[in-house]
This record gives sequence, structure tokens and C-alpha cells, in this order.
Amino acid sequence: MRKLFLICKYLKTYGQVLRWRYKLRIAIIGAGAMGSIFGAMLSSASDVYLVDLLEAHVQAINKNGLVIEKTDGVSETCYPFATTDPMEVEGEVDLAIIFTKSYDTEAAAKTAKLLLGERGLALTLQNGLGNVEVMAEILGDERTVAGVTSHGGTLLTPGRVRHAGQGPTYVGDSPLNHQILTQIMETFTSAGIGVTLSDNLETLIWGKLIINVGINALAAILRVPNGVLGVTPACEKIMAGAVSEAVAVAHASGIQLPYDDPLQQVKKVCADTARNRASMLQDILRGARTEVGVINGAIVEKGNAFGIPTPCNRLLSELIQALEATSEKRL
Ligand code: NAD
Repeated sequence: MRKLFLICKYLKTYGQVLRWRYKLRIAIIGAGAMGSIFGAMLSSASDVYLVDLLEAHVQAINKNGLVIEKTDGVSETCYPFATTDPMEVEGEVDLAIIFTKSYDTEAAAKTAKLLLGERGLALTLQNGLGNVEVMAEILGDERTVAGVTSHGGTLLTPGRVRHAGQGPTYVGDSPLNHQILTQIMETFTSAGIGVTLSDNLETLIWGKLIINVGINALAAILRVPNGVLGVTPACEKIMAGAVSEAVAVAHASGIQLPYDDPLQQVKKVCADTARNRASMLQDILRGARTEVGVINGAIVEKGNAFGIPTPCNRLLSELIQALEATSEKRL
């Protein structure tokens, strides 16, 4: 019995030493605003490989380092490996974090498939619905991990990103991957990223989705900062319509939301982020494609499947699509 105890103790210590000696190899696929922020933080605790199609950004990182501006005015520079060509990443990675916009998830998942080792996992921390399904189609359910994060940021210029807000990150747990997920969580924690494994990720994904449904399209159409939406009755009326449709679809999908009063929660986020420009507004202002399809558009699609009317989300989606289609003709 004592011999067995000693063997177990030895194996535990040996395991810890191996874990201590072995740094995770992490590829960030889509190293724009969010990918750069996570890549920069994780590079203190793991070997990070940034893969992005934006040549100017990759070149700036390789020449001058990746500069992260924080809210306290302090900037930090780190020097992760960055490339536009995934074939330049030597060897297999343990984790691929997908941080492209949702309309590029399929291409990013194909890159993840090239880079991941046999037991490697792909994690999405993107917004909206449907990213996990697209990834699982390419990588398999068992290698696809869902997550949600409250960090926020903006790509300022190539090589320079503003880390605008910090908050919790949740990653979906699974019995099959629990061991490697635990190691990933340890790496995140050592890198200063507050993270929790969750058995109830759908709730959190929908919780964030409904906030985005209430704020993003409306802010982009009206071209106002978040704070204006929650205190202007004419805006609140549209917001309430979009949110109540999304809540009806969530309930029909069997989702229990993480808050009791969704509209109040959306208004609270508007007040807490009063001066922020929603990401969809930023996209519209720079003439870029938005993620409306996986936000308001996803509510319309799921509403159709359940026979739930979603006229408010349909109109918001169509207005955003019209703004995208006319960006070069704006007076
Ligand atoms: P971003 O546009 O700044 O970055 C996306 C990057 O992906 C771009 O640099 C682009 O070149 C790159 N890319 C596109 N296709 C690629 C491919 N096939 N391979 C490699 N790179 C590719 O976007 P972001 O603001 O960082 O957002 C990324 C995701 O995170 C979105 O789903 C967004 O909703 C979500 N998110 C953003 C924030 C935020 O504050 N910005 C917060 C939470 C979640």
C-alpha cells in the first residue's frame, strides 16, 4: 500500500514538473483587435503564434513589436511571432483561438485544422451565434470549444491596439477535454486573463447576444455612442422591441438567461459604457462589413424556425445590410 502511495506521489510530482516545463503552444487565428490583446497577454505564459491576413499589421509587429495601449495610459510592447502564412508556424499547436469576425470563421477553422496537433483544441471567443457550429463542421465537436469574453478593444493602427476594457472570460467545459482545458485555464490565469470553466456556456453566450441585439445595430444606424440609446425614449422603444423578440427566441430555444430583466440589463450596459462606440458602429463608420448576420440576423433566422415573429430584428438587419451596401455612395 505504501509502495502504491509513493508511486502515485512520484507520478503527481513528475506530472507537475512536466507541466511546469512545458509551455502551451497557442495560435491566434485572426490577430486584429481581440486576437492581438489575447496574444499579447498569453505571450507571457505560452508560445504564441499570431496568424492574420493583414500584411501591414503583421509587418509592423515583426518590425516594432505589438503595442497594447491600456486604459490607464500605459503602453506595453511584446514580440510574439506573427505571420500571414500559417505554414510558417513550425510544429503543431495545442490550442487555436479563433478571433476573426464571424463571416471568416470557416476559413479560420480550416487554418486551425492545419495547425492543431492530434489532441489540440480550437476555442472561439467571438460574438454572435453559429461560430461553434461552423468550427465543429470542420474540426469535429470534440475539438471545438465555445467561450465568451468581456474584454474589449480596437485596432488603432497596424501593430497598435487599444485594450479598452477588461472583464471575465468563460470557456465551455467538457469531460472529454477536461484535463487539457484545465492546463489552458492555468495558462490564461498565469497570463493575467481571468477565466472560468463553465458547464452552462449557452446561457452566457445568449446573455451577451441579447446585449448586442439591443445595442449594436441601433447605435450603428443612429451613429450615437451607447449612452445615448438607454436615455432616449424613442431609441428605447426600438431597443425594447428587438430585445423582447430575442428573449422570446431564447426561451423557445430552452435558454435560461443570466439576468432577470433583459431590457434593464441592456440599459445598464449602455450606462456603464456610455462613451463607447459599439463595434457595429465602428464597422459602419469605416465602411467595413458588420456581424449583423450572427446577431440580429440570427434572431430572425431562429425566430422563423420557431414561428416567432421578429419584425424589429428583421428591419434592423436589413437597414444595416443597406448601410453596408451603400457605404461608398454616402452623401
Ligand atoms: P478585427 O476585425 O479587429 O480582427 C479580425 C482579424 O481577423 C482581422 O485582423 C483580419 O485580418 C483577420 N482575419 C480575417 N480572416 C482571417 C483568416 N482567414 N485567417 C487569419 N486572420 C484572418 O475584429 P475584433 O474586433 O478583434 O473581433 C474579433 C471577434 O471577437 C468578433 O467576432 C467580435 O465580435 C469578437 N469580440 C470583439 C470585441 C471587441 O471589443 N473588439 C469584444 C469581444 C468579442
